[in-house]
Amino acid sequence: MQLTQDFLRTKKLPHIWCPGCGNGIVTAALVRAIERAGYDQREVVIVSGIGCSSRAAGYLNFNTLHTTHGRALAFATGLKMARPELTLFVIMGDGDCSAIGGNHFIHSARRNIDLNAIVVNNHIYGMTGGQHSPLTPTGMKATTAPGGTLERAFDLLELAKGAGATFGARGNAAQPRQLEQLITRAAKHKGFSVVEALSPCPIAYGRRNKLGGAVEMLKGMKESSVAVERAAEMDEADLEGKTLNGVLFSIDAPEFSSEYHRMIKKDHG
Ligand code: SF4
Repeated sequence: MQLTQDFLRTKKLPHIWCPGCGNGIVTAALVRAIERAGYDQREVVIVSGIGCSSRAAGYLNFNTLHTTHGRALAFATGLKMARPELTLFVIMGDGDCSAIGGNHFIHSARRNIDLNAIVVNNHIYGMTGGQHSPLTPTGMKATTAPGGTLERAFDLLELAKGAGATFGARGNAAQPRQLEQLITRAAKHKGFSVVEALSPCPIAYGRRNKLGGAVEMLKGMKESSVAVERAAEMDEADLEGKTLNGVLFSIDAPEFSSEYHRMIKKDHG
């Protein structure tokens, strides 16, 4: 109850999300992670782009910035460079992050700037009517792929790692406590952190692909997830169709905003 009063803008409720949407679960995990990490509320900023999940910024009682489609990381980069002491969480959907904002995503990773990207992956553009995104699995239907998409989906965390991100984790709305822990670990990591949060969209994705309602989708999500530690002991055939969960990589490397400010300080004596 205290968390709700302190961290939610209750006057903005009820939220706009459909019944059974996973966005509320992911948002709650983020709030609990911030509380668990013990940050001063005034030192936390939530930045978001455009899409169903990005509406979370409006409901959260922190410094918030609801930006343009695909540009959340660009806004967050400017803020982090001006105020490096702030802790920033950047909420994006899969299309927002990996299509429209794809360039910002790879370059944020390349710089290893200390931002925490929370990518809510529901495999579809929910808000704009169910178009397929670069994270829609091959063969799944969307308004723009009525017979199933022919494109291969990005592995978002492989993409992030390849571009230079130094922390990557995957959780899901069916295992909210684990998701909370992953976000806490991402926040404590110094550098560009990506948490991919798989989240059910029963309306724009589940219904079209006959995945059942929210309960069935959450159940399916849980059953197809395998912890990275367990996966290491499984053979390839058993891992077919499974999704790895947990911290996939955590690397020490110089962080951009602190390196930049150190250099400026040195140049100005
Ligand atoms: S369209 Fe999908 S992602 Fe958007 S609010 Fe509805 S269930 Fe959630």
